[in-house]
Amino acid sequence: MNEHDSERIAGLLESDGYEETSNQSDADVIVVNTCCIRENADNKLYGTLGNMKQLKDDNPDLQIMVGGCLAQKDRELIQQRAGHVDVVFGTHNVHRATALLSDARSNGPVTEIWEEADPDEAFASALPARREIDYAAWLTIQVGCDNSCAFCIVPSVRGVEISRTPEEIVAEAERLSSQGVTEITLLGQNVNSYGRDLALAARRSGDQSVRIRPAFAQLLRSVGAVDGIRRVRYTSPHPKDMTTEVFEAMAETPEVMPHLHFPLQSGSDRILRKMHRGYRAERFLAKAAQARETIPDLALTTDIIVGFPGETEDDFTETLRVAAKAEFDSAFTFVYSPRPGTEAAEMVDDFCDPDEVKDRYARLRTVIERSALAKQQGRVGVTEEVIVEGPSKKDPTRLSGRTGQNKLVHFPRPEGPLRPGSYARVRVTEGHTQYLIGEFVERTAAASHRTRIPVL
Ligand code: SF4
Repeated sequence: MNEHDSERIAGLLESDGYEETSNQSDADVIVVNTCCIRENADNKLYGTLGNMKQLKDDNPDLQIMVGGCLAQKDRELIQQRAGHVDVVFGTHNVHRATALLSDARSNGPVTEIWEEADPDEAFASALPARREIDYAAWLTIQVGCDNSCAFCIVPSVRGVEISRTPEEIVAEAERLSSQGVTEITLLGQNVNSYGRDLALAARRSGDQSVRIRPAFAQLLRSVGAVDGIRRVRYTSPHPKDMTTEVFEAMAETPEVMPHLHFPLQSGSDRILRKMHRGYRAERFLAKAAQARETIPDLALTTDIIVGFPGETEDDFTETLRVAAKAEFDSAFTFVYSPRPGTEAAEMVDDFCDPDEVKDRYARLRTVIERSALAKQQGRVGVTEEVIVEGPSKKDPTRLSGRTGQNKLVHFPRPEGPLRPGSYARVRVTEGHTQYLIGEFVERTAAASHRTRIPVL
């Protein structure tokens, strides 16, 4: 979400006549878009701002803006600690970035934080964006989150869930397709509850025929049906809200890729309760099994936190058990670290011993990598369609691409052009924990985007 906000801010500035520079000392405007989900976000922010002080001294016309969720949380504190910052704006008023710049130019430093999103202005994709990748795009379907996971700052900095209407989302997908985008990732904090707020609002306005239920499954089908969109992905779902209808929509819509990122967080019911996750480990495993039964060739990935406050060795053993049973294709594993402003950050008396957590983390990695390697090696001999991402970072004689399951594949560069955004069939010859090696079979579709899509 934060990366997409950065694209929007860049797009707004470009529409206002600014051009990107790779050299900070040439800049008229520097935007620092913060994310307080990152560890030590505040130290990094104030360190970065401290380094910019000299730039501002050298060029008093330089304008420095700070946005994102740390700005939403710290507000006036930012200009108190870094008086050379011109504009502070939050997560709900990103669309105001250029207006705030001009306000600060005329009237001096400004802090503008909105307490909640304006539904008419809430959606990232409705603004111009300067996408980093031309053939793939984020598409925001929902902002905010109604849950209260104890480790997570999102609800307090992104507000309550607001869904964008399906008509607007499909229109946005059509517009992206017309620009040559073939892969769309639907973006929301809890995509499975997409549409619940829209149904409630319709009921409140007198339409009693509307059923109060999430509409994500239908949305997957609708976006998959957009002409020119070959791949649909989404992030992030919540296990407690995942429905059979979503699995069925994934199975029945060929454009929706067979990859489910399904955040477990912990395998201990006691810790899941403490986290306020709203499901038990066995329920998670049952849903994961149902997903695999329903969706052919599904890859399952997850997030797991090690050392959440109060986690005992028995709790961790449960996490190991569930992770082994789930046989994930890969996992983002995190050592718990407190995020100021969250409930878990207050559980100081329960913080785990760092050495024990380090040991647990290593044991969890062993379990995750064992299943990851087995899954990767299970792909050997399979011919996969990949979207070409460009030259491999380590070996430019190879290209890299992503399979439908979102696995990274490196393969020798074939004769003839195969530019990023093309599709090719690649036969997998080796499986490694983090990547696959393959051989080129044939190109299946040329990239259809222009090299640089003009900002609207
Ligand atoms: S569902 Fe996701 S975004 Fe919402 S509080 Fe939990 S972890 Fe944070």
